[in-house]
Amino acid sequence: MTAPPFPRLKLTAPLSSFPSIGPRRHARLERRGLSTVLDLLYCFPFRYEDRRIRRVIADLEEGTEQGFVATVRSIRKKAVPKLKAPLVEATIFDHSGEISVVWFGQEYLLKHLPEGSQAFFFGKVEYSAYSRCLVLRSPVVEVVDPDQGLRRSYHIGRIVPVYREEAGLTTGVFRRIVGDVLRSLWGESFDPLPESVRREANLMGWFPAIVEMHFPRETDRPMEELLRPGYPPLDRIVFEEFFLLEYLMMLRRQGVHRSGRLWSPGASPEESLSDFERRSPFVMTAAQRRSCGEIAQDFGRPHPMNRFLLGDVGSGKTLVAAFAMQQALRGGCQTAFLAPTEILAQQHARTLAGLLPDEAPVLLSASVKGLDRRRLLAGIAEGAHRVVVGTHAILEEGVVFSNLGLVVIDEQHKFGVAQRKALWSKGPNPDILVMTATPIPRSLALSYYGDLEISLLDELPPGRQPVETRIVSKADEGFWKKKISPVLERAEQVFVVLPLIEESEKVDAKNALDVHAFLSAFFPGVRVGLLTGRMAGEEKESVMEGFRRGEIAILVSTTVIEVGVDIPRASVMVVENAERFGLAQLHQLRGRIGRGGLPGTFYLVPGEGMGEEGRRRLKVLEEYSDGFHVAEEDLRLRGPGEFMGVKQSGLPMFVVADLVRDAEVLARSRHLASAYVEGAEGRMDAAWEQSGLEEFLRLRYREVDVWLSIR
Ligand code: ADP
Ligand code: MG
Repeated sequence: MTAPPFPRLKLTAPLSSFPSIGPRRHARLERRGLSTVLDLLYCFPFRYEDRRIRRVIADLEEGTEQGFVATVRSIRKKAVPKLKAPLVEATIFDHSGEISVVWFGQEYLLKHLPEGSQAFFFGKVEYSAYSRCLVLRSPVVEVVDPDQGLRRSYHIGRIVPVYREEAGLTTGVFRRIVGDVLRSLWGESFDPLPESVRREANLMGWFPAIVEMHFPRETDRPMEELLRPGYPPLDRIVFEEFFLLEYLMMLRRQGVHRSGRLWSPGASPEESLSDFERRSPFVMTAAQRRSCGEIAQDFGRPHPMNRFLLGDVGSGKTLVAAFAMQQALRGGCQTAFLAPTEILAQQHARTLAGLLPDEAPVLLSASVKGLDRRRLLAGIAEGAHRVVVGTHAILEEGVVFSNLGLVVIDEQHKFGVAQRKALWSKGPNPDILVMTATPIPRSLALSYYGDLEISLLDELPPGRQPVETRIVSKADEGFWKKKISPVLERAEQVFVVLPLIEESEKVDAKNALDVHAFLSAFFPGVRVGLLTGRMAGEEKESVMEGFRRGEIAILVSTTVIEVGVDIPRASVMVVENAERFGLAQLHQLRGRIGRGGLPGTFYLVPGEGMGEEGRRRLKVLEEYSDGFHVAEEDLRLRGPGEFMGVKQSGLPMFVVADLVRDAEVLARSRHLASAYVEGAEGRMDAAWEQSGLEEFLRLRYREVDVWLSIR
């Protein structure tokens, strides 16, 4: 059996080819990002209206929206002194009785709905104290075309879709356009999902599902239930969206598997690991050992590694990265380590110098300039520098490696796909290790990074102290005196984090400059440092160095210290205007303290006027110390779109699927996608199905090609 052919022409037909779409509507559709039939099909309504004709005038009930057909007996304009626009009043009848209708200011109806015309009316009937009878108020009207009757209308005598009115397209116009487009595909039996998958998952066919998403069939369900799980057309589209994504992941994974690796490690995984651990300053946690083992296994395979190291703040990812780097160095190649901020890059360069004793890591950032930079680039190009740590500056075109074998990307959620690509294309098929200290819920990780192997660091190194989180109402003088002075007396250090660098007219929030001035005056014998993203690289470095050495006791900063910074004696952090930060970001900030065996306190100070919603969010942090919990909550509160840079990932977004609500469907679709890909090998009909599936993917998500071309 073969699948029906891919209806390319029909799906790619430009919307301008439809008679109901003139140049103006076409321009508006384009403005909404809709240019082909397929685009339009996936632009679903957000609710429905039951406009079935189930009433005659005599049965109309007060207070609910109802539809019926009637004939106009009389219609006239009536000026009311108090109203700006005149009223239009009509009397309409059917075989059962008659009723008054009233509209406000829709004078065109006088022409549109002359006496004797038959029309469909949909609206609410209410008792009018003024007329002392039931009146139909401002109903939707559609004149029945005497030649066609009711059958062909998109707007009456059925459940109708209601679309978002956007770019000057009313829901009525949109409905008509969608109706015409659906008609052009009538009877289409193509389905992007393979037959076997559809049967296994018990799903509706593609076209019927699309049609019913727009124009639901007769049903007894309440209208609100039609866009919820359990409504077969919706279930079908949700599954389809997940399946396409998972299939895409598998294509990508296959692409990686087809390319060969550049280098091979000199020793067996066990040997390499015990050798590394012998020289490392710590005993590894079991999770670190397991992750290193997985990486060592990858290095023994014929294709390059593509691994995601997922672990909570402070779980010790850097050590694992160092192990991977050491392997690559032994294999004779260069390694690059990309960090999102200069401060972090500086810190990593120092840490790696300690963990890789035979190497001298070099640091490349925007503040390395002139002759220094030229010398550095020459050394990298010749292969003299084998460990290059840096910021975005590494990605620039002028940075050329002689044999880049391994790329490590720290805090990968801070980078987009394009940057990921820029880095690994500097070597012939380098291994890639991406890391994030922002825990991502497993459902998200698996769907968005499903093409990567995942290693999980689910254990913190011993000696980490608990950090208590407290929401305090304000950070006034009493607070600094009572809560912070004792900390300073114990020679512990304090971070103070602000949302702004300096005063802003647009944003009502505290700023680093003011707070720095205040604290310097408030604690006269104490050195208070200032660190912002606007400072030059050397300046930042010298402030961090002062803080690291303990000369600076309080560091006032913006979120430049958000990721990765490691200061053992810092035990307290105060975050002002805490409601302005994302939960995951706050969790990251919290990870900066409690690192050196000192128990920590994390103070959240909300700005004035934080609402209930804001408080609920901050409470999540008070309650949960585990980053994965925080992340799940964050995802629930903010939705996946905004979640931790997923938007930047360049991946298709879902139209109806919801990662939180439909997590089980996601798991099932992943399972079926992998079973399909495995089972498809060598089956004749599979090739047919796959070509349709892939063509469909490319049309539906135009970014797919770009996305498939990168790792
Ligand atoms: P993250 O996963 O947040 O990047 P880091 O790699 O910065 O974490 O490590 C956090 C801290 O834990 C660092 O001070 C590091 O030196 C220390 N550390 C890492 N691994 C271990 C270990 N196995 N035992 C003790 N301390 C460790
Ligand atoms: Mg880190």
